[in-house]
Amino acid sequence: MSHRVRQVEAIEAGTVIDHIPSDRALEVAHLLTAPGDQFFLGAHLRSDNMGHKGVVKIANKELSPSTISRLALIAPGATMSIIRDYVVVSKDPVPMPDRFTAIARCPNSNCVTNHETVTTDFLVVRPSPLEVRCRFCERSFPASELVLT
Ligand SMILES: [Zn+2]
Repeated sequence: MSHRVRQVEAIEAGTVIDHIPSDRALEVAHLLTAPGDQFFLGAHLRSDNMGHKGVVKIANKELSPSTISRLALIAPGATMSIIRDYVVVSKDPVPMPDRFTAIARCPNSNCVTNHETVTTDFLVVRPSPLEVRCRFCERSFPASELVLT
């Protein structure tokens, strides 16, 4: 047993996203929850690996593939656990796709995707720290510059 005081309440069933970069924790909570959802948000929690981290626990909910893709973009390196009956049935890194399609706006204001009805598409150039390249203007950006649509 750990001697540490638990920093966030346990949930009976649902999804836990851990190791979120501290400054993205609120954004992750906003992405993963809908009105009426029961959730716990921890930000700037102590982390041996990261210094500080964010944690979001959502009760009675498992995430869709498109939500997981958005999560990979705003919280690369986070881990996702599925809880059923207070038991962690899986705990894995949030999977990093090869590309992010139709989920974020290009930061380049001159990019055609910001002026015409074009589906945005970013290819992963480097997974850590996450960097992506717009398929249309061919510019590369750190993931932190992208805004979800
Ligand atoms: Zn672009």
